[in-house]
Order: sequence, then structure tokens, then C-alpha cells
Amino acid sequence: MTVTVRFAPSPTGRIHIGNARTALFNWLFAMNNKGRYIQRFDDTDIARSTQEFADSILYDLHWLGIFPDVTEYQSRRVEIYDAAVERLKAARVLYACYETPEELDLRRKVRRTRGLPPVYGREALTLTPEQVAEYESDGRRPHWRFLLPNFTSDPLQPERTEVHWNDLVRGEETVDLASLSDPVLVREDGTYLYTLPSVVDDIEMGVTHVIRGDDHVTNTGVQIALFQALGAEPPVFGHHNLLTTVSGEGLSKRTGALSIESLREDGIEPMAVASLAVLVGTSENVAAAHDLNELAGHFDPAATSKSAAKFDPDELFVLNRTLIHQMSFEEARDRLIVLGISGDKAEPFWLAVRGNIDRLSDAVAWWRILSDGPQEQAEFSGEDRDFLHQAFDLLPEEPWNGSVWKDWTGKIKEATGRKGKPLFMPLRLALTGRTSGPELSDLLPLMGREGTLARRP
Ligand code: GLU
Repeated sequence: MTVTVRFAPSPTGRIHIGNARTALFNWLFAMNNKGRYIQRFDDTDIARSTQEFADSILYDLHWLGIFPDVTEYQSRRVEIYDAAVERLKAARVLYACYETPEELDLRRKVRRTRGLPPVYGREALTLTPEQVAEYESDGRRPHWRFLLPNFTSDPLQPERTEVHWNDLVRGEETVDLASLSDPVLVREDGTYLYTLPSVVDDIEMGVTHVIRGDDHVTNTGVQIALFQALGAEPPVFGHHNLLTTVSGEGLSKRTGALSIESLREDGIEPMAVASLAVLVGTSENVAAAHDLNELAGHFDPAATSKSAAKFDPDELFVLNRTLIHQMSFEEARDRLIVLGISGDKAEPFWLAVRGNIDRLSDAVAWWRILSDGPQEQAEFSGEDRDFLHQAFDLLPEEPWNGSVWKDWTGKIKEATGRKGKPLFMPLRLALTGRTSGPELSDLLPLMGREGTLARRP
């Protein structure tokens, strides 16, 4: 059977690095198993889901290098869920409930004071036809709960019922179905909560592996029971740890914290985001992979730790620098053109500056320095000014070869007796306006003799 995975966000905001972790776990798992990746939008909450968010999620995924085999929207599949509801009703495992949220809240409190677990007591199963008729005539609409298979013959007498699975990430897992409330699958207004559409789609779409955050571990117990109630074999499950901020807070799509969009706008490379999103909180060393193939070679769901992984945005900058420092001209070329960096000098320029910048867009400032001269004029002491005048008078004639910088500074040293910092710093400042930057031996040929002389203070 073809390995089939899915990433199933609800399109209610921009995705953040924690969502990217889930998407990439699925994508890399599919890559390593020659599988298929389904992009599924869990948009049954029509009030909060939008097409714009779905589109932005697809855009962010493409930016990361994820190109789904199929894209599906749950809002377009309601008839399929309706058919599943009919099957569950026919099997008598879906039952109507009429409690209001306030009534349920009160019941939970009463159970707690009696030392009982705060789960739903299945009171709706004891309603007489008259009581149901009364609710209906009062205008109450039912919501529908799935009867968990946690009893022998009397649902009002639940018994410990263990559901086991071998989690791809966490190993052996157990959930006791008697510790859970029968989940509501359908709301009063007929709309679906997440659980049923998710299971129905996983069945219909042939999903073989469900890889998602560990906030879904308990849901898995319920979902396995639901797969079975619908006559299907449950898929393999894997629950990865969640990312938190350095101070331990969860990430939220709604607040936009650490969104993929904001990281992109900050000039972070997709592979810096992907490398950290996948490798943080695992036993693998966090290092920048150059592409998803390389990252897939370091990806092993079982190497993921069970506790939450703290995510430090500063690490992104470290990985980003490594990627930029190693980026070939071929890789950078088109992006440099967009930034206005093109022509014969673009390649030597890139090779000269890439080791001194944090983001690709930082190259623009160096390109300006080289084409238009220093952006800030340095102040020189009288002594340094005299030194520079002498130095510029010694600039070799063209044509220049690769050793022009060495030749020039050799002559300056001989003529002025300066060496080390007192020799190089005034030259660097005069040529670039900055106290640090790429090797001057690489920059000088890019400025040419005329360009260099134009920098004479
Ligand atoms: N829409 C669910 C979520 O975003 C999907 C969970 C799942 O993968 O089953 O949490």
C-alpha cells in the first residue's frame, strides 16, 4: 500500500514554525517512503476559516519546498460526512443529546464534588420519548455524541477499556476509553466538529500514517474507536512534541507569532526554517541542511523527544548565516537579479560578500557601496589623510591581476612604513565607509582603478 500522509490545518490564520514542523514531518516521511502527501484543509468551522488563509498556507508550504500531491477542503465534502453519520446512527453508536453548555457545566461540577471523573454521564441515553418530545417542542435541537465502546452491555456502566497503538514517535501508547466523555461529533446546527470528518477523510483518502502534534494523543483513542465503528482499519499514528517559545509558551496561529510569513520577511532562508523546525527537539544535531533531500536523510520520527521543544529564533539566524555563507552563485543568481545585482560583476561580487552577510538582501548594501561609493563618509585625522593621499598615489595602473591588492599594499608599506591595522583600517574606511566587511583583495578588482581613485578622501 502506498504510504499516504496528510497535513490538516484549519485555515484560520497564517501557519507558524510549529505548524511547519508537522507539515515537514509528513512531507519528509512521505519522501523517505516514496509516499503521497495530501494537503487537507480542516475548514468545517466556516465562521473562522477563509480561502485567503488556505491560500497563504499553500504559499508558505511551497516556499518551504512542500508541493502536495492533492489538496482537499473538508467544507466541500459534507455529504460524505452526512453518509457516515447515517451509518453510525444505524449502528446505534451516535445518540442525540439535548443538554445546554450550562447544564453540562453544572453536571461536571456535581461529578467532581462526588469524586467522579468529570466525563459525560450519558444521561441522554436515559431520556424517555416524552422528554425528547418536550425538548423538541421547546425548540431545542440535539447535538450528537459517539458512544465510546467502553462497556460490556450497559453503557451506563463504563469499564476500563484500553486502546493501544504503537506510536511512530512515542512508542507504545495506551488510552483508557472509560476516562473520556463520548465526543460530540455533530453540533446542534448540524455542523461538524473536527473528529468525524477527520476520521472519515483518513479512511476515504487512504491515509496510512497520521503524523501530528502530541496535543492529539488523547483524540487518538477516540479516533481509533471511530475507525473501528466505521469498519476501517486505523492508520499508524505518530505524535511529535510541540514547539514552544523560549519562555515555554505555546505558539498560536491566531497571534501570528513566528509565522512563516514573518520569518520570510525577516530574510530567513526556507532551509533554515525547515532545518530548525524538523531537528529541534530531536536527538539529531541541529545543523542547516541545504535541501529537503538532505534533511530527509536526518529525519527519523522515532528520534523525536517526548517533551516540548523550546524554539529560539536566534538559532534561525545562525543557520541562516551558514546557508548564505555556503550559497553558490547559481543558487543566488536569480534572487540577486531581483535585488538589482546583475552583470559580469555579480558572480565575483557574490563570492566576495556572501561570507559577510546574514541575509541575502544584505548584499544590496554592499552592491551600493561598490557601485556608488561608501554610504557614510569616514572622518580621518590629518595624519591618516596624508597617509591615504600617499597610498592612493601608489595605486597600480591597469590592467590588474589577482594580486593587485597585495602589490598595492606592499608598495604602501614600503613607502609609509605602516603595517597591520594602521595601514589597513584607513584604507578599508576610505574604500567602503565601514570598519569591517569582505576581503579588500576581493573588493578592489570590483571597484576598478577609476572607482578606487574616486574614493580618495
Ligand atoms: N485540524 C486539526 C488540527 O489542526 C488536524 C489534526 C490532525 O492532524 O488530525 O489540529
